[in-house]
Amino acid sequence: MNATVARVTGETLLDAPQPGGRRPAPGRLALVQAFVNTHYDLATDGGGELLGDPKALGAWMSAHALIAPDARLDAQDLERALAFREGLRALAFSNNDEPLDEAAVEALAAASAGAATEIRIAPEGPRFVPSAESALDAGLAALLAITATAMIDGTWPRLKACPGRHCGWAFYDHSRNQSARWCSMQICGDREKARSYYRRRSERLGAGAPVGDREHERGDQGARRGEREDEGEHRLSLRGEVDADDHPAARRPRPSG
Ligand SMILES: [Zn+2]
Repeated sequence: MNATVARVTGETLLDAPQPGGRRPAPGRLALVQAFVNTHYDLATDGGGELLGDPKALGAWMSAHALIAPDARLDAQDLERALAFREGLRALAFSNNDEPLDEAAVEALAAASAGAATEIRIAPEGPRFVPSAESALDAGLAALLAITATAMIDGTWPRLKACPGRHCGWAFYDHSRNQSARWCSMQICGDREKARSYYRRRSERLGAGAPVGDREHERGDQGARRGEREDEGEHRLSLRGEVDADDHPAARRPRPSG
C-alpha cells in the first residue's frame, strides 16, 4: 500500500484539461480535484459521467494508483464512491461561499466509514498510509488523507466548486486574494452575470422583459458588469478556452446529493 500511495503524485495530473486554462490544484490535491471532476468528461463530446458503472470506477481509480488494477468493485462500491465524491463537491461549494449541503457532507462521512489510515511519523513529515480492508476503502482513504493534508496546509479552501448553473466543476483558485468564483469567466461567469443582469432588469421593468428581448441582448453589457476581482481569472481563461457549449456547465446537471 505504501508504494501505491507513493505513486500518487500530482505530476501525472498536470496535463489534465481545465476550463479556462487554469492550472490544476498543487501536488496531490490535483488528484482529489480530478476525482471530483469525474462527473463530467472533458475529453468527449457531451461530457458524460466518467464513473458510469463499477468497472469504470475501478478503471479510473487504478489508473490513478488508488486501487490495484485487478481490484473488483461492485454496484455498492460505486454508490459509495459517488456519495463520497458529491460530499467533497459539497465542501468545495462551501469553499466558494455557497450554502453547505449538510446532507451531502453526512453522506460523505458515512461513505468514509472503514476508509482507515495509519499515520507514520518520519523526519520529513507525517505520512498517511491506508490500512483499509477493501480495495475501495484503501482508495477512499488515500483521497481522505490528501484532503486532510490540504485542510491542514491551507490549500483546501482554494479548491472551489463552480456555482454556474449545471456546473459544479472543481477548480483551484490560484488568485492572490482567493476571490475566483467561476470555473471560467467566459463560460460560467459571463453567463451568470448575464442572467443576474436580466433578472434585475426584469424586476425593474415590472413583469419582466419579453423573452426575445432577453435573447437579443444576451452577452451585452450584462455580461461585463462588475466583479473586477475576477479579471485575473478572465485573462487566464483566454488561453486554451473551450467553446462555451462544450463545457461542463453547458449540459451537465449538478448531481443531486
Ligand atoms: Zn462553471
